[in-house]
Amino acid sequence: MKVRKGDLVQILAGKDRGKQGRVLEARPRDNRVVVENLNIVKRHMRPRPLRDSSRMGQQQIVPGGVIDKPAPLPVSNVMIVCPTCKRATRIGIEIRAAKGEEKRVRVCRRADCGQEIDK
Ligand SMILES: [Zn+2]
Repeated sequence: MKVRKGDLVQILAGKDRGKQGRVLEARPRDNRVVVENLNIVKRHMRPRPLRDSSRMGQQQIVPGGVIDKPAPLPVSNVMIVCPTCKRATRIGIEIRAAKGEEKRVRVCRRADCGQEIDK
């Protein structure tokens, strides 16, 4: 998976198509990412006691109600926004030699850009 936590991505599908946001969480295991403030779903939560809170004497309660939270979306529905050219792009991996070590860097695949994503 080429998308990592902290990347700026653009959403390609769904109701937030075209919007951009930061990746809060990358889940390579199920090929999904959670993007800040995008793909928001309403969760209807039941009030429940906070785990381990009873040790502190009085029990704390997580309030119930309708809570907005970002839902994970498939990585195939997002594209990384290149920090250099500011466009949504595909990502390539290049091997660069750095201090006698081989390093894999993520690069922008736009023909006229080709800059590294991580700097
Ligand atoms: Zn670029």
